[in-house]
Amino acid sequence: MTGDVVVVGGGVMGSSAAWRLAARGHRVTLLEQFAPGHDRGSSHGSSRIFRLAYPEAFYVDLAVRALPLWRRLEKEADAELLALTGAVDHGPAAVTSDLYGALTAAGRPAELLDPAQVAERWPGLRADTSALFHPEAGRLHADHCVAAFQRAAVGHGAVVRHGVRIGRLTVRDRGVELVTDDAEAIRAEHVVVAVGGWAPGLLSDLVPGLPPMRVTEERPVHFPAAAPLDWPSFIHHGGARLASAAGVYGLGSADGVKVGFHGVGPVVDPDHRVDRPDRAAVEEVREYARRWLPGVDHSAPTASTCLYTTTPDHDFVIDRRGPVTVLAGFSGHGFKFAPVLGELAADLVEGHPAASRFALGAARSR
Ligand SMILES: Cc1cc2nc3c(=O)[nH]c(=O)nc-3n(C[C@H](O)[C@H](O)[C@H](O)COP(=O)(O)OP(=O)(O)OC[C@H]3O[C@@H](n4cnc5c(N)ncnc54)[C@H](O)[C@@H]3O)c2cc1C
Repeated sequence: MTGDVVVVGGGVMGSSAAWRLAARGHRVTLLEQFAPGHDRGSSHGSSRIFRLAYPEAFYVDLAVRALPLWRRLEKEADAELLALTGAVDHGPAAVTSDLYGALTAAGRPAELLDPAQVAERWPGLRADTSALFHPEAGRLHADHCVAAFQRAAVGHGAVVRHGVRIGRLTVRDRGVELVTDDAEAIRAEHVVVAVGGWAPGLLSDLVPGLPPMRVTEERPVHFPAAAPLDWPSFIHHGGARLASAAGVYGLGSADGVKVGFHGVGPVVDPDHRVDRPDRAAVEEVREYARRWLPGVDHSAPTASTCLYTTTPDHDFVIDRRGPVTVLAGFSGHGFKFAPVLGELAADLVEGHPAASRFALGAARSR
């Protein structure tokens, strides 16, 4: 089999790259090792936060660019993916004022609030010290997004194959040879590798300059609430009265209000995870909910797991070495940007340079 571009990995990043490449007229094959809708990587479930609020203009701009692309995907795939419920950030005043500054400098609406105003507007939430609300934020339905990217890619002529695991990638004179675990050999002029937590294992020997990445199993918890879909997304930043420096995120979803500590899970091998609930981790989130989320039923938690693949600087890896383009290291905050990151992947395949912030090796800089 031959194809102009083979995308390895059918999570949100590979699926978005397949969409943008196929839309630009490339002949695209997307290969995913598991079945559609699987829950063993980073892109499953019913919710991810979309938000513009970052302390740096670079990420605010990237999220602003993602917004119309989400709307384009919704049209092409005929699906409702993004609900703008707004977002509440709360915690130390220095954090909320930095976020406010970055949003208003970009011309985006935002308001600073005190905890009493938060309690009045969102009785289910208790805010710490100072708060920021911005309306251009909300909830993406993760499973529906991945399916929509793939449907839209197929609409532009891409081929999507599930149950195909790439065991080996070899750069040849002209392009790349991929060998599946079933010993099928596939040739491609270009390969885009978007394998989430499997990136260190598959790419370390192939791609010089790949930063070290920690693969961890994160354990968010869902709680029942009266009207979970009306909740804003929220982030409780570390410091002030929150003892954990990690920070807590949450949002409403079809499965209840999801709450998680950011990036605190244990290091795992994605192929050898033990699927057993971690009582202590659930208890920690439950204790948080008891104290800070009066609007949820903290007595009825439902645990889930998901992988983070985290770089030392928490910036992504989106760059190219010869015929291999890498999308990796989304550090627990990549989903919201997926459609624009698909565009960046297509730019790289077409020979445009990487953003230095996302570059491999010595070119990586802020
Ligand atoms: C609990 C949790 C909450 C999060 N919340 C948010 C949020 O609110 N907002 C936000 O913006 N981001 C959030 N993120 C981050 C976001 O979900 C991830 O950055 C994003 O899903 C990463 O997608 P990916 O495509 O890189 O990885 P994955 O979804 O893991 O996709 C990689 C795919 O590659 C496949 N694969 C691997 N190896 C092979 C192979 N050899 N052959 C074929 N296929 C292969 C895997 O099966 C997998 O399907 C969260 C992440 C987690 C875990």
